[in-house]
Amino acid sequence: MKRENYDVVVIGSGMGGLSAAALLAAGGYKTLVVERLPRVGGRYSTIEHKGFKITTGAIEVEMGGAVERAFNAIGAKLDVRPVPPIRYRIDKKDHELPLKGGLRALVSQACHDESEAERVMGALKRGLTWQEPSDSISLREWLLQYTQNERVLKTFWALVSPTHFVNDDELPAGKFFEYLKAPKGQGIGIAPQGNLALMESLAKAIQDKGGQVWTRCRAQEIVVDGGMARGAIVQRGDDVIEVVAKAVVSNTGPQKTVALAGSENFDQGYLKQLRETLRPAPFMAMHIASDRPLVDCSSLIFVLGRRLSVMNCPTLLCPEHAPKGKHLLMAGGTPLSSLPPYDFKKDKELMIQDLRDNIPGFDEHAEILVASYFRGECPGYHSWPGYDLPQKTSIENLYNVGDGVKPPGWIGLGACAKSAEIAVEDIKLRIKPG
Ligand SMILES: Cc1cc2nc3c(=O)[nH]c(=O)nc-3n(C[C@H](O)[C@H](O)[C@H](O)COP(=O)(O)OP(=O)(O)OC[C@H]3O[C@@H](n4cnc5c(N)ncnc54)[C@H](O)[C@@H]3O)c2cc1C
Repeated sequence: MKRENYDVVVIGSGMGGLSAAALLAAGGYKTLVVERLPRVGGRYSTIEHKGFKITTGAIEVEMGGAVERAFNAIGAKLDVRPVPPIRYRIDKKDHELPLKGGLRALVSQACHDESEAERVMGALKRGLTWQEPSDSISLREWLLQYTQNERVLKTFWALVSPTHFVNDDELPAGKFFEYLKAPKGQGIGIAPQGNLALMESLAKAIQDKGGQVWTRCRAQEIVVDGGMARGAIVQRGDDVIEVVAKAVVSNTGPQKTVALAGSENFDQGYLKQLRETLRPAPFMAMHIASDRPLVDCSSLIFVLGRRLSVMNCPTLLCPEHAPKGKHLLMAGGTPLSSLPPYDFKKDKELMIQDLRDNIPGFDEHAEILVASYFRGECPGYHSWPGYDLPQKTSIENLYNVGDGVKPPGWIGLGACAKSAEIAVEDIKLRIKPG
């Protein structure tokens, strides 16, 4: 077997993996990223389909936060076009949410009158400044103490569904407040040439700093010896290579990390935590082609649907994502239950009904290009927000990064990059480069 030596091997090139590699390479660590697919980016990448750029997961990325810090660290540019402020569709009318004071604006729009709005806002403020509500009840149960107004309840569902990938009656109330309190960036953006091009620019910057990014290269095993991670066995073409490293960063999700390293090498408490805590969050997404924009703005539109909670027309901002004269609409939503069994057929039907209700002439102008149910090995998130594992595993020098180890309150790509920051900070304390 061939042998190669690195300071750190990163398994997987999703946002968590490439962010970790960028921070490590910038810090002088000899870093190797191995990615089993032919392209980098994981669930933030691009596939070409009928001339459209179809994302493999995320479309918008947070600007001015942990993702941009990873890009900046290695001299890459987070080249995105800013998306205008979020809109909320309540009673068929769109309301723009200001960047500051958005929650109050939302509550005021949804409530029947000022006294109801004051009651709900008062409770929210108490939860933010005095004590977070208990996790023993769901966000919906918590809200029901202050309003029975279905429109208000649905408004909060429409905030939680596309950000947390669970429903309001599933998210523990305290976790919602953790999210409200967590640091936020400065708006969101879309990569004009597609997510793949953006992630390739990050991979290139890593390589320019002396790192390596190998695609079509699967990690078969994480090597553990004497309770410590020592590297990985990887398959590259016909070669099986032993990568010897001082630390291993896995971006494959906590479950797969255990399978790669062998469950016999982990502490029983860690395995119990994994079994009892981790809950993959499913998410439904549709890519819809049309010959005219199906919505009138390039903002994210949060929708109070039965399943549909978010719509976005990226081609209004980035026409590069579609053939000339064509448009793309992205629609997303959570299934009825975030725990199996799922009923994809019914969820999909209801989502299409919601699209018909929200887009005049939908059947006439829309062609569903791809309808995906992200679940299992490729979920919305590897774990519901608030049900994450720590970045450190019980095996010394073996770390997880990505959306199964999100820091409390963090969501999406920002959470993946933040988990990488946390892991790399720890590596820097323990291991010297070279
Ligand atoms: C439909 C949808 C819409 C979303 N929208 C948004 C959004 O708009 N904004 C946002 O911020 N977030 C969004 N998200 C969430 C975001 O996409 C994910 O949280 C994020 O992309 C996950 O990144 P990750 O670091 O966990 O790595 P992943 O993307 O999971 O990447 C892991 C990589 O590891 C590789 N790998 C696995 N096993 C091996 C192995 N043995 N050897 C080598 N490589 C391996 C995989 O091929 C993959 O490339 C969305 C998600 C979905 C599904």
